[in-house]
Amino acid sequence: MVETEALFSAVLDATADAVMVTDRGGFIRRVNPAFEKLTGFEPGSLVGRDARDLFAEINDPEFCAELWEQGETPRYYPSVRSLHADGRAQVHALSMTSIADGAGKPSQFVAVILSESFQTDAATGETRRVGHDALTGLPDRSILADRVGQNILNAKRANKSIALLVMGLDRFTLINDALGYAAGDQMLREVAERLAKVIRVSDTAARLDGDKFAVMTPIAAIDDSVIVAEKVLNAIKKPFQLKGEEVFVTFSIGISIYPTDGEDFDDLLKDSLSAMQYAKQDGGSQYRFFASEMNAKAKNRLELEKRMRAALANEHFVLFYQPKVEPKTNRVKGAEALIRWRDPVHGMIGPGEFIPVAEETGLIVDIGTWVMRKACFQTKAWQDAGYAPVKMSVNVSSMQFKAKDLLDKVKAALADSKLDPKWLELEITESMLMNDVEGAIARMQAVRDLGCGLSIDDFGTGYSSLSYLGRFPITTLKIDRAFVKDVQENPNTAEIARAIIGLSRGLNLEVVAEGAELKEHIDFLKDNGCDSIQGFFYSKPLEAHDFEAKLTKIS
Ligand code: C2E
Ligand code: MG
Ligand code: MG
Repeated sequence: MVETEALFSAVLDATADAVMVTDRGGFIRRVNPAFEKLTGFEPGSLVGRDARDLFAEINDPEFCAELWEQGETPRYYPSVRSLHADGRAQVHALSMTSIADGAGKPSQFVAVILSESFQTDAATGETRRVGHDALTGLPDRSILADRVGQNILNAKRANKSIALLVMGLDRFTLINDALGYAAGDQMLREVAERLAKVIRVSDTAARLDGDKFAVMTPIAAIDDSVIVAEKVLNAIKKPFQLKGEEVFVTFSIGISIYPTDGEDFDDLLKDSLSAMQYAKQDGGSQYRFFASEMNAKAKNRLELEKRMRAALANEHFVLFYQPKVEPKTNRVKGAEALIRWRDPVHGMIGPGEFIPVAEETGLIVDIGTWVMRKACFQTKAWQDAGYAPVKMSVNVSSMQFKAKDLLDKVKAALADSKLDPKWLELEITESMLMNDVEGAIARMQAVRDLGCGLSIDDFGTGYSSLSYLGRFPITTLKIDRAFVKDVQENPNTAEIARAIIGLSRGLNLEVVAEGAELKEHIDFLKDNGCDSIQGFFYSKPLEAHDFEAKLTKIS
């Protein structure tokens, strides 16, 4: 009987797949000869290095972070870029497995880069990768089926969705007839190149047959598939140079979604093909979902996006201000700026209805800038009019908070309005901080360095660990209204509310409660030492001139 370790080594040395073992921190413990050969590094030179050096920079950073995350089952990535010793990137399929220690925590990770098998065509003597289409080099239908299957397994586990987009060139036979098959082939090759460029590492592009291609993409929301479809449509719209002529083509795209439209590859493919036919019948150069309600949804989203852009340009957004009252004195000490959309046709629209779409489409960045500026100018105007100053809180969305120019925009809003930074506070939520704690702390500190306050909104609803709280350079905690709502009758809620107030005291933070509607809420919060209270009991959010009536004149 061969010893386990020796057996393990022999297997590793013999396998054609490139294998790397790392510790839980991602540092390389062992690689096999196939791995060294594939990556071109000197034998023995990789052990002890940070494996991320081989994957970072050339892959999506989020993806890299995910590689060394805990997970019980092997994860499979169809196309990952790795770094060759000579500096070039290569693309492979990668599987990642974590090995648990006695306590069930991952102690090591095993990464396997799957070797591609090659086969030689007996007739032509041409060597090509098995499972890849000879003309375009894209994966063929069998590989696509395999990857869709793998992704369905992943999606099932993580409760996620995937989209299968099938696309056919409109009027491709005309091109073949007019310019000949060689030109047709050249076009298909170029279509394949353009497709490969627009997809992400986690996606797979494939050629099905003739003029039909497919893209499989894991999605978080239906809109993600719309974004891919639009990118593909745009990539194909640019003219092709064939036989010295500019040729224009378009795609018809059919989209099906796992799990709503089908449970396996065959079902999804059928659905996507039928949706593609509808797209063609409707004139081509467009996408269609298999499920008709999805088409309505996608249309509504596009419509809303268009209307939002117009609203921004036409100043149809308004800020309302909700007072934050100090319960001891009943004085208004602060305000939260809350956006509303005053639509000439649909009337007043609340942020719940458009902020999520604004976030998905990226429009939130422009809207957020507008809110920031408007709030600063208004606060300064009240000060100039002789009212006792109030601290203005502005909600900042996740995308805004992560944007590189956040600081520049805050600085510009302050400078242009001449508002002293101490009167501005940004409200962020816990969920924005947890993906990249160190990065978030750095950004928070930068905001604090400007002299602005920083508040954690809806505190208690996120899942941030209390151990981080002391490290966050914040000034304020805002208790979520869930812990205020039934505080007068539910001892558990009361206990949590008290704990949050106590925690804020301990960390020397200001504590604000939101959603106080009843006299009992106010009494409880006041008795337990809450600094300020925001809620319908005192006031609903008000338009600027109504809010002004709540302010104290000092000069
Ligand atoms: P939030 O930041 O937690 O704002 C507090 C919400 O609670 C506001 O809803 C406010 O009207 C509501 N509220 C205040 N007091 C009470 C009360 O006593 N009872 C009840 N039931 N509700 C109360 P609103 O204005 O609809 O805003 C909803 C959310 O939309 C905000 O939650 C915030 O996350 C987002 N939002 C609003 N304005 C902006 C903005 O300018 N930018 C961004 N990124 N998000 C915004
Ligand atoms: Mg808020
Ligand atoms: Mg809140």
